[in-house]
Amino acid sequence: MSGIPSKTDVVVIGAGVSGLAAARRLAVAGREVCVIDASDDIGGRIRTDEVDGLLLDRGFQLYNPSYSEGINVLDLKALDVKSFSPGVIISIDGRNYKMADPKREPTWAIDSLLAPVGKISSKLKFARYAIGLALTKSKSTSYDQRTDAFLRAKFGQDLTDKVLRPFLAGVFLEPELATSKRFFDIALKSFISGSPGVPSSGMQAIPRQLAAQLPGGSIHLNVTAQAVASTMVRTDLGDIRCRSVIIATNARSAALLIPSLKVPPSNAVTTWYHLADCSGSELTEGKSTLVIDGKKFSGNSDDPSRPLVNTVVMTNNAPTYASNGRTLISSSAIGVHPSTQSELQVRAHLASLYKVPTGNWTHVATYPIPDALPMMTAPHDVEQSVRLSDGVYIAGDYRQVSSTNGALVSGRRAAEALLTDDL
Ligand SMILES: Cc1cc2nc3c(=O)[nH]c(=O)nc-3n(C[C@H](O)[C@H](O)[C@H](O)COP(=O)(O)OP(=O)(O)OC[C@H]3O[C@@H](n4cnc5c(N)ncnc54)[C@H](O)[C@@H]3O)c2cc1C
Repeated sequence: MSGIPSKTDVVVIGAGVSGLAAARRLAVAGREVCVIDASDDIGGRIRTDEVDGLLLDRGFQLYNPSYSEGINVLDLKALDVKSFSPGVIISIDGRNYKMADPKREPTWAIDSLLAPVGKISSKLKFARYAIGLALTKSKSTSYDQRTDAFLRAKFGQDLTDKVLRPFLAGVFLEPELATSKRFFDIALKSFISGSPGVPSSGMQAIPRQLAAQLPGGSIHLNVTAQAVASTMVRTDLGDIRCRSVIIATNARSAALLIPSLKVPPSNAVTTWYHLADCSGSELTEGKSTLVIDGKKFSGNSDDPSRPLVNTVVMTNNAPTYASNGRTLISSSAIGVHPSTQSELQVRAHLASLYKVPTGNWTHVATYPIPDALPMMTAPHDVEQSVRLSDGVYIAGDYRQVSSTNGALVSGRRAAEALLTDDL
């Protein structure tokens, strides 16, 4: 890796997807860009470790091929997204119930209606709401409120606590569902419009594709920005003079550079990977279907003997995630749980969710991620300003919405504001 340049047009701080999207847009416009990242590889929160023939994403996450921004900047064919099943399995009192979008998983339609998780009228109301959302333009400025208040009032306590809360807790990474309903609408619309999954070579293929669109030598790893001015970035390896700067770090790091910046609280998650001692076809009908615990949040109590918010057999739909036909399971709990004791609780919870013995499953890795997602408290502005001061711009999912698409959009918006200001 060559040293950092002493001079460039634009310095982008952060090689997560927002920074890479910003750099890509600037490169398309002919600007010379220098991207620096404090870490040892690109991707930020989208990293994949290759360990012993396994693809281990740092935290369970999915990419939705219907993401509007991704369609413009990624080669989806090359990404080869292995979509997961468009439904969930809900575990309640020793039984598993299937619920899915009836259009895409018609054989589950009857199960979906009969599952003891709310009145049939509530389920139909929810289906109508979701379809309506998919057909309308998202109203990012509509009245905002906490998601839980909206769901309970609209669809009832039972459906909310047994299905929507356990599912959404794994999306928002917070069980209260205090997250903005505007984001709920955006997320639900994207679930209905697309089929989320994982790229066949792991989630990090997404930032890698963006990086590959930059001129060689644009990205400098293991370089930390320490201070920012409109015409200079001070790093631990020296100063870079420039015409403009885009700060595309996570919120907490951005606030170290710009102390007046408001930092949203972070939601944390821990993901465990296990290799099962059985074939994937014996679990969740041989599909990659999210399994959730319908009793976990009943009565608002968070039972510590049921740590998991969701689990999925990765290799059923994405067999490239484990070589030699092995069965890789990804399981996540909200919060940071690094201990061996937690792994034992996870293993016991997995046995009850999959209804198979898990004592011989091999624990492969644990990823505690303290700053996984910025909290989007209602009312949440889904399109915050990208201009900080003369020549200094800001990007990152927390400026938009906490998703890959949000990060991609924020990066492109920051770059376009810069291009408008600096013709
Ligand atoms: C566990 C988990 C699950 C998720 N699930 C989903 C999902 O299912 N669907 C979805 O759409 N999204 C999901 N997301 C969210 C998505 O991954 C993020 O929104 C997106 O990756 C954020 O990108 P970013 O560029 O804004 O920030 P980051 O990825 O955090 O990138 C910031 C970069 O800045 C660098 N940096 C920080 N400080 C400095 C400094 N001073 N100098 C130089 N570099 C610095 C960091 O090293 C980092 O590489 C998930 C995220 C996690 C962690």
